Amino acid sequence: MNTVTRPRILVVGAGFAGVGCVRRLERKLAPDEADVTLVTPFSYQLYLPLLPQVASGVLTPQSVAVSLRRSKRYRTRIIPGGAIGVDLKSKVCVIRTITDQIINERYDYIVLAPGSITRTFDIPGLTEHAFGMKTLAEAAYIRDHVISQLDLADASDDPAERASRLQFVVVGGGYAGTETAACLQKLTHAAVKRYPRIDPGLIKWHLIDIAPKLMPELGDKLGRSAQEILARRGIDVSLGVSIEKAGPEEVTFTDGRVVPTRTLIWTAGVVASPLISTLGAETVRGRLAVNAEMTLPGQDGVFALGDAAAVPDEAKGEEGAICPPTAQHAMRQGTHVADNVVATLRNQPLTPYVHKDLGLVVDLGGKDAVSKPLGVELHGLPAQFAARGYHWWALRTNVAKVRVATNWTLNAVAGDDFVRTGFQARKAARLKDFEFTDAYMTPEQVRTHVEGAEHKEA
Ligand SMILES: Cc1cc2nc3c(=O)[nH]c(=O)nc-3n(C[C@H](O)[C@H](O)[C@H](O)COP(=O)(O)OP(=O)(O)OC[C@H]3O[C@@H](n4cnc5c(N)ncnc54)[C@H](O)[C@@H]3O)c2cc1C
Repeated sequence: MNTVTRPRILVVGAGFAGVGCVRRLERKLAPDEADVTLVTPFSYQLYLPLLPQVASGVLTPQSVAVSLRRSKRYRTRIIPGGAIGVDLKSKVCVIRTITDQIINERYDYIVLAPGSITRTFDIPGLTEHAFGMKTLAEAAYIRDHVISQLDLADASDDPAERASRLQFVVVGGGYAGTETAACLQKLTHAAVKRYPRIDPGLIKWHLIDIAPKLMPELGDKLGRSAQEILARRGIDVSLGVSIEKAGPEEVTFTDGRVVPTRTLIWTAGVVASPLISTLGAETVRGRLAVNAEMTLPGQDGVFALGDAAAVPDEAKGEEGAICPPTAQHAMRQGTHVADNVVATLRNQPLTPYVHKDLGLVVDLGGKDAVSKPLGVELHGLPAQFAARGYHWWALRTNVAKVRVATNWTLNAVAGDDFVRTGFQARKAARLKDFEFTDAYMTPEQVRTHVEGAEHKEA
């Protein structure tokens, strides 16, 4: 007979928000006070802001994959899989495990932190031909892909093939796209020296955005400074421009230009995980509408945070302002939501999440960076020091800090060998393949599935 009567807390997603929550729960709750379970497809927390550096080979993939099992003190039960639906009425989360088994996990409290996926638009050919920069597999794949373009261009005597292999397009002038273009341009710039048959002048990086400014959150001066750095490095920045259509060997811009390319990287924003729409609850621009305590109004024991939730930005003091989808907020919301879960368990009052934005750091590779910590505008080495110092501090485990610092040092001293691993090479994999966006149920499917299971149990 099952005699366990402890409350069951289920955390969905092991990102900045989910892991922040779980670690705090482990610290604050006595072992017999509640059972904590985490659903996550991977056994690591991905440090996303450093992904462009994985793509460019400055960091190894392992160094940004922070282990969920580093310490014996981590006592949370981990279900390896992804949540594909949540039935709020029956308090059941439907999970597809990594072996494709469907299980129903009951909970008393659920913390939804599945993050976001790449936001795409109805642009012909986009999902079939673009890469994203949201997963470790994508970053590793893009690195191999870019190096293989150099290898293939070097081997080819066809000028048209060479031209299309040596042009690269990044869409999205936010920090993710700008860092990706800047870091990868550094990679090709350094790598081409090892390809004597390639004319370096043929290599062209394009960074485009429909907005009139790069990274508007940096302010005019730093935004311009970033643009100057990119221009100096030969990156062609086009603002007020997007993609009309994408094909396997060329991309058409909305200003009419047709760029021969086999590399289209799409980083034009994010949208909440499709898990959120399985709840059938209210959303704000796709993110789950929660209150400042990060609870779902009208539902008992449902919390949501991070990129997946529209958490009111109380520090801004503006009506309707919501926290931007950043790691800075997600990690702090994680610890805060854990405090609110514990308060709920102990019948104590919940507190609202309030955090004043600390600013932005943008690593453009090598000595190039622009940063605005606490409103102070920095360029060059001080900005790079702030960028790397912040990320280093924010890495969760000491071993991850050592790995990243060692990688940075090794790269600065010995450079890169531009090795193409070939692990993922045979099958082309693009946006639609990496983010498993078609794995989710509809709200009706969740309800029918859970009711069917309950019927069987009865
Ligand atoms: C290239 C890049 C650079 C960035 N740079 C910065 C920066 O410099 N500063 C900054 O503040 N922010 C930055 N961000 C944004 C930041 O990474 C996100 O805002 C942050 O990761 C959000 O945290 P989260 O916990 O909500 O989601 P995530 O960290 O994305 O974690 C979500 C987790 O949930 C898991 N998951 C997804 N679906 C399911 C499911 N159905 N079931 C179970 N688990 C699921 C995922 O595998 C993942 O582990 C950057 C993002 C990118 C892509």
